[in-house]
Amino acid sequence: MAGDGKQRRERLPQDAHFDVVIVGGGINGISVYRELSLQGVKVLLVEKEDFCSKASAALSRMIHGGLRYLENGEFALVRESLAERNRLLANAPHYVQPLVTTIPIFSRWSGLFYALFNFTGLMDKPSRRGALVIKLGLWFYDFFTRRDQRLPRHRFFSQSETAARWPQFDPAVACSADYYDAWISAPERLAMEVLSDTGEQSDSLACNYTELLSRDGQCFTLRDTLTGETVTVTADKLVNATGAWVDQTNDRLGLASGYLQGTKGSHIIVRHPELLAELDGHMVFYENPEGRVCILFPYYGNVLIGSTDIPVADLDAVTCTDEEIDYMLDSLKAVFPALVIQRQDIVYQFSGVRPLPSVKTSTTGQIPRSHALRVDSTQDDLVRLYSLIGGKWTTFRAFGEEVADQILSDMAHPRRISTAERPIGGGRDFPQTDIERKAFTKAAQANYGLSDARAEVLLQRYGTQCLAVMAYLADGEDAMLISLPDYSRRELMYLIEHEAVCRSLDLLQRRTSVAIEGRIDNSVLAEVTELVAATLGWNEQQTKQDLAESCRQLQRLHGLDISAEQVKHIWTTSFSGGNYVYQ
Ligand SMILES: Cc1cc2nc3c(=O)[nH]c(=O)nc-3n(C[C@H](O)[C@H](O)[C@H](O)COP(=O)(O)OP(=O)(O)OC[C@H]3O[C@@H](n4cnc5c(N)ncnc54)[C@H](O)[C@@H]3O)c2cc1C
Repeated sequence: MAGDGKQRRERLPQDAHFDVVIVGGGINGISVYRELSLQGVKVLLVEKEDFCSKASAALSRMIHGGLRYLENGEFALVRESLAERNRLLANAPHYVQPLVTTIPIFSRWSGLFYALFNFTGLMDKPSRRGALVIKLGLWFYDFFTRRDQRLPRHRFFSQSETAARWPQFDPAVACSADYYDAWISAPERLAMEVLSDTGEQSDSLACNYTELLSRDGQCFTLRDTLTGETVTVTADKLVNATGAWVDQTNDRLGLASGYLQGTKGSHIIVRHPELLAELDGHMVFYENPEGRVCILFPYYGNVLIGSTDIPVADLDAVTCTDEEIDYMLDSLKAVFPALVIQRQDIVYQFSGVRPLPSVKTSTTGQIPRSHALRVDSTQDDLVRLYSLIGGKWTTFRAFGEEVADQILSDMAHPRRISTAERPIGGGRDFPQTDIERKAFTKAAQANYGLSDARAEVLLQRYGTQCLAVMAYLADGEDAMLISLPDYSRRELMYLIEHEAVCRSLDLLQRRTSVAIEGRIDNSVLAEVTELVAATLGWNEQQTKQDLAESCRQLQRLHGLDISAEQVKHIWTTSFSGGNYVYQ
């Protein structure tokens, strides 16, 4: 199961030596960690917050080729992304699934000159793409995947066909196109599974809530961001996978670099049954009049809408602003003019910073989305630094492989294992058909005494690794949570004990999908914080500190109406003796 045994902060010993230190536990750092560990390299990964909590948790949740990147001339990136999309469909079928996508098209010709001249610099402001440009893009999509045609080819629909299928579209829509990409239901969970895929004999270690502070020769000072304690480790190779923070991190290491720029992107999750019904499982990929692409698709019974693309200076202060929400809701009116979506329909919101290469362009949409590796030596020539520039979620494996190959070559260390066809976590032996699925849940039911419905939920949540969860559930008394009746106490205890949970929000936002489902309220926070506190043995002060931090983040970053006072009130009225033992 994700996280088994290799991600405990307290195991980090003073003055330990590693072959490679990776700084940054987003998906790209995690990918390099997996690639190197599987080859027998001893790696330390440190992440100053929780694993997969910054850009890697702020994605639009698409695993995609990047249709839009074609007009920026990024053909190699699209080809690579489509190949990686197909690999993820095969290697992580428990979390990555096909997504049929509809593009409403407003004209036949527009956008053609922009698409042709953008990368020659003759035209630099996008406009709405017409049918011809979109047809060209979709033709490339199909062409790139012709040898591994895992998903159906694109189709065009006339105005009348479009109106029949999409009665709520603006009548100005001239036609539409359908094509296939993929979506990811639990990127944070998949990241934990990649992190734990190190091979059985690995000496590698991954520590969340551990920040790289500074370097002295080959000695790195790390700080536990929960306790403030520091420790030093040594290595002569350091991978800087700190995403938008790459230049700041290089600065701490004594290297002046100007590799990165960040653009902020925000998303909202709305609870809107009419919009959900209209989508009927489709993603709609649409443009506002100035040519900026937005998306919306069903996500856990709600609708995910995004995203913006705005330059940012302060990487640590990004939030989804009122202006961004207005922008997203307004641009939606261009496609669905009659649907009224209001602010009170928003049940969750989130933002992140895209780590993009530092290149001057007229609009943020034109900044290349491809990834690159920069190799430097520190001035004293004692450490080789590998800086990761850019990198989509979709391409994490290919990027991790490229970085690892460079390091392996520098170490003259052979590659033993390829990850290209390697199933990830609960994607291994995942049942493919309804019959296989039923057989799987029947067997689980027989072995662990669970109902069909519960076995199916656990399979959906954890893939085939649900067997480890089921064995744990069967090993002690259990009860369903009152505030989250589809989760049991032992299920969450399993995640807390085995997946490096250090804070309540690690559990609610990243080990489960409770947060993004828009289900956090005061009762959920009270019950889950109590459970985390009891499982990790926190005292009252630690529990209250955790609660205060959860409330601060949920209010500021996710727009939730959560109150520490309310949570404490629930504790005092629902818990006995003030010791957080739930009755
Ligand atoms: C709005 C938005 C939408 C996106 N949509 C998609 C999409 O649909 N599909 C797709 O494929 N991609 C998408 N992306 C791109 C993708 O999410 C990112 O490019 C990718 O997650 C970057 O991962 P990373 O590991 O490089 O960076 P991050 O996830 O940001 O990780 C870097 C980590 O370094 C840590 N760190 C920084 N400094 C230190 C230090 N000193 N010590 C220790 N740790 C440190 C940070 O805390 C952070 O966790 C999107 C990105 C955004 C922002």
